Formats: sequence, C-alpha cells, structure tokens
Amino acid sequence: MSRIRRGYEDRFRALLRQARARRLEEGVQWLVAKARRLSARDGISLADALAQVYERLAARQSFQCSTSGTAPSRFLCDAGLGGLARWLRAAGYEAAWRPDIDDDELLREARGMGATILTTDAMLMERRLLRDRIIPVFWLPPTLSIPEQLALVFREFGLAVRGPRCMTCGGELHRVGKEALRERIPPKTYRWLDEFFVCGRCDKLFWHGTHWQRIMVTLSALEGRSVEATGKHRHSKQVQE
Ligand SMILES: [Zn+2]
Repeated sequence: MSRIRRGYEDRFRALLRQARARRLEEGVQWLVAKARRLSARDGISLADALAQVYERLAARQSFQCSTSGTAPSRFLCDAGLGGLARWLRAAGYEAAWRPDIDDDELLREARGMGATILTTDAMLMERRLLRDRIIPVFWLPPTLSIPEQLALVFREFGLAVRGPRCMTCGGELHRVGKEALRERIPPKTYRWLDEFFVCGRCDKLFWHGTHWQRIMVTLSALEGRSVEATGKHRHSKQVQE
C-alpha cells in the first residue's frame, strides 16, 4: 500500500505544482489525509479512496492541463504494462514494451528513444532522472484495469484515437490486396472480407472481425463517442481473429 500511496503523492504533487499551489508538501499531505477519511467513512480501500481524491482533483479546471503540454511521440511501458502497450498501439500510438526489462535498461531505453515512461512502480519514480523530469514519466495506480489505465493515459496527455498500429510490435499497417495474401488467409475469411492489412515491421496479417469491433467500442468510449462516430478510423484496421 505504501507504494501506491507514494505514487499518488507524486501525482498530487505534480497536479499542485501545475496549478502553482504554494506549500506543496502540506497540500499533498492534506489530500492523503482526505483520502484516509474517505476510506474510513465509506469503508473502501485506501487505494480506491486515493483514486477518487485524485480523480476529483484532476477534473477541476485549474488542474486540467496535461503534465507535458503536448502528446508524447512514443511511450515505453514498464514490464507490468504489456496489456496497456498493446491497447495504446491499437489506438494508434507507438508503445514499446519488453517483459524482462530491468529499471536501468528501461531508463536508458526511454532516454535513447525520447519516450515517455509509463509505470506502476512508485519506487521507480524515486530515480533522479525521473524526479528531475529529465525523462518524462507517468505513474499509473497498479489497481486499475487495462481500459482504466488507457483512459487515464488518454486524459493525462489529451490523446485522441488514431488509425491503429500493429498490436504486436507497434509497426504501421499497410493495406494489401487480398489476392496477394490468398495463402495466408483462412478460406472462409477470404470469402467474407475484402480488406486486409499487413504490418510493415513484423509482417503480421490483420483484418477486422469481431475482436476488432470490441476494441473499437472500448476506444470509442475513451472519447465519449459512439462507434459510428469513429468511422474515420475504420479504414485502418486491426486485429487478427
Ligand atoms: Zn507488427
């Protein structure tokens, strides 16, 4: 729990700094105390109470601008965020992820790539390179589901859903005539669908079936729009059945 609390303390600090609050540390401790009271009053976990306090604070006008001001060009997800990386790619963003990466490598790679680190590890946030904002980083509470993580990242950086990238490697998808792919497409799918895409980086084949539709529904919800409203994205498909 102390790690989660520490992560929220960092987030409170960032929000308060953004709003140019004075007496930063007092503000942070006041917010943590508020979460403790909420937790006791409503019988919810401290993690949930901290999340609520954070949500309310972040929703207030003066706290709404993103920490970075502009959308990061690419993300580097820590070892525990492989699912989020896949979804970010589906939403059209470059998101690197390696399951076995250690902290030093993660920092080195982020710096080399010019990437923003996404992490659930509050201890990592103590690293000087991150504390001093030399490498941009965003901490996510480890208690969140993947769609919740995605929604948080979208809100924090003011992202919009783009044409999808390969969920496996993040490469760009290219539309390819189905005749050329005949041997790779299951016969039934070949008969029913006309649009197929190949990843320019890992050569994986994609088309949009029911799995893709489910992904679109989740991504659309991020923007508070219906699936129909995201029609402009439908031409950059995704996802192998
Ligand atoms: Zn790929």
